[in-house]
Amino acid sequence: GQCEARWCSTNTCFKGHNMLAPFTPGWQTTEVNPLVIVKSEGSYVYDINEKKYLDTLAGLWCTALGGNEPRLVAAATDQLNKLPFYHSFWNRTTKPSLDLAKELTETFTATKMTKVFFTNSGSEANDTQVKLVWYYNNALGRPKKKKFIARAKAYHGSTWISASLSGLPPLHQNFDLPPPFVLHTDCPHYWRYHLPGETEEDFSTRLANNLENLILKEGPETIAAFIAEPVMGAGGVIPPPATYFEKVQAVVKKYDILFIADEVISAFGRLGTMFGCDKYNIKPDLVSLAKALSSGYMPIGAVMVSPQVTEVVYSQSNKLGNFSHGFTYTGHPVACAVASESIKLYKERNIVEKVKSISPRFQDGLKSFSDSPIVGEIRGTGLILSTEFTDNKSPNEPFPPEWGKFNFLFFISYQISFANINGGIGAYFGGQCEKQGMLVRVAGDTIMMSPPFIISPKELISKYGNALKATEEKV
Ligand code: PLP
Repeated sequence: GQCEARWCSTNTCFKGHNMLAPFTPGWQTTEVNPLVIVKSEGSYVYDINEKKYLDTLAGLWCTALGGNEPRLVAAATDQLNKLPFYHSFWNRTTKPSLDLAKELTETFTATKMTKVFFTNSGSEANDTQVKLVWYYNNALGRPKKKKFIARAKAYHGSTWISASLSGLPPLHQNFDLPPPFVLHTDCPHYWRYHLPGETEEDFSTRLANNLENLILKEGPETIAAFIAEPVMGAGGVIPPPATYFEKVQAVVKKYDILFIADEVISAFGRLGTMFGCDKYNIKPDLVSLAKALSSGYMPIGAVMVSPQVTEVVYSQSNKLGNFSHGFTYTGHPVACAVASESIKLYKERNIVEKVKSISPRFQDGLKSFSDSPIVGEIRGTGLILSTEFTDNKSPNEPFPPEWGKFNFLFFISYQISFANINGGIGAYFGGQCEKQGMLVRVAGDTIMMSPPFIISPKELISKYGNALKATEEKV
């Protein structure tokens, strides 16, 4: 298990550890060195060798308030001392879960939400959405209305249903997914998929028409819900093209299809609005939350439910004697206490205005590198951004997957997901960032950033510029 690679922080590669690591290429078969993080401080994290990194991914799109926020630590400690756990089944519950549900329904204003169902993660939130929607349509006597439409390149989680909703081939291959009740429509990535001469508005019209054609082909009486992230995250940070959500929502509404907004990444200020739905005028029936809900300090997810869906679900569960769905840790009191404190802090510190004031420096600073000959597109909004490396500025000319293979083995980062173990320009760029003390997310030829809201963009931009220059030189 000893490993001699340069950035190994434990001196033992994954081959020598017992952990089966998620989304980690080559586990147990290749000498991949885990970067073991032991400590955080504001926007920085430290590895086991005390090397300091600027964490441009906020853990994993999570720690919006940064590391070591004393108010969140105190909220957790107080609750642990008072009541570390009680369940929320069968008419028993805890005060923090009731308080958080109230807070969330009051905070979300894009549409009226009356109820909240708590989960432990975003994946569980989206699984819950599917079961809720089925239950709803069964209650309405529409047993055929059970299919879901998601989008190519979406990420909705990795349980079997949420992975099925996701539109990323590695999540399906060799897992026998997706099942027939999940359909996928177009990815709304204008730069990559628009036709010659097509405006963003025309592109959105074409995609909405394709969605309508899919619904008609399957039969509108079979389509239960449409699920979308306001800005696609793990699929490559893809903000919607102009008029996209307006047109897609009109189609969905026409056929009595529920709209599920997956706000797992976009909520609580990330896009410069409290929710992604506020930014794009999305009027959802159901909303999924996780990650920044607790600033990543405790595992928690949530499903917010509109009055229309609530009413049907309530009357059905009264008839059946139970709404038989839930997890032992649904409404975990410590997680709920930390989430309530996070929301309090987002409001108290006017986080939306803060993101609005930082994001132009972050976006403009990084987008000023768009002219680089190895950059295809730099895209993002608020405090979320990605860089897609392509040759000749063309979406259709990727760098070879074997690119930079030799150096890659020295620079590989624990955070790499969906990346080719053998190399790739994204992994090389990620390695150059890591070398300078900065962590980014690498996904093939795309690298992504979603820093904590307390970030100061200057250092991040300077390190990004250095990594880009080193990558250009390598090309
Ligand atoms: N939905 C979106 C939009 C996500 O980005 C993620 C995770 O990245 C999930 C759902 C799944 O959340 P979790 O990893 O907490 O299960």
